[in-house]
Amino acid sequence: MVKDNLQGVLSTLRPGVRLIAVSKTKPVSAIREAYECGQRLFGENKAQEMREKHEQLPKDIEWHFIGHLQRNKVKYIAPYVSLIHSIDSLGLLEAVDKEASKHGRVIDCLLQFHIATEETKFGMSLEEAEALLRAPEYARLEHVRIVGVMGMATNTGDRDTVRSEFGTLRGYRDRLAERFFAGRPEFKEISMGMSHDYGIAMEEGSTYVRVGSSIFGERDYGVPVND
Ligand SMILES: *Cc1c(COP(=O)(O)O)cnc(C)c1O
Repeated sequence: MVKDNLQGVLSTLRPGVRLIAVSKTKPVSAIREAYECGQRLFGENKAQEMREKHEQLPKDIEWHFIGHLQRNKVKYIAPYVSLIHSIDSLGLLEAVDKEASKHGRVIDCLLQFHIATEETKFGMSLEEAEALLRAPEYARLEHVRIVGVMGMATNTGDRDTVRSEFGTLRGYRDRLAERFFAGRPEFKEISMGMSHDYGIAMEEGSTYVRVGSSIFGERDYGVPVND
């Protein structure tokens, strides 16, 4: 079933868009099934859960951290994480830099923006992000590399609202690229779009889509992760 779902999603991707299979709460066996179909990018939102799965699975998987990240949990993912999508403060970026340096790594990161109308979603405003990028403390970091932006649209059936929020995020990417990342072509990524809205997100320019339930089925938070 995972195989059919995955192939279904892959067949709808626009050229240049990469699929992150969001495997949070799902067992290692489900990830293996997707892996056997060639999927290599997986997304998790809990540091310890990601660490346990990383230990049990093939080492050519690219692990994407997509959830709210606490500074004291960075150590669980720093040795191997390939992209952290959820940087929402200078303090967190400094914590990532410190852990990355212990492993001799430079960790790629995205700035997470609050683009939805819902209060519950995490992320910075454009002003906060610009303040971060202007901070002298940021300029000193050598073990992180910011490669783009991430955001979640309002959870609504109103497609115009969703489209406009995704358009806002793309505008932030463009503006920051011009003001802060001139001559740095790696700053280009836009991580936006989930199962119910990744079609709109791709039309608005996403480079990564994060799709979970359309591949692995609905999540049941009552079931243990490692079966
Ligand atoms: C869970 C999650 C997803 C995937 O959501 P689905 O609706 O299952 O596709 C994408 N992004 C983030 C940040 C998530 O937490």
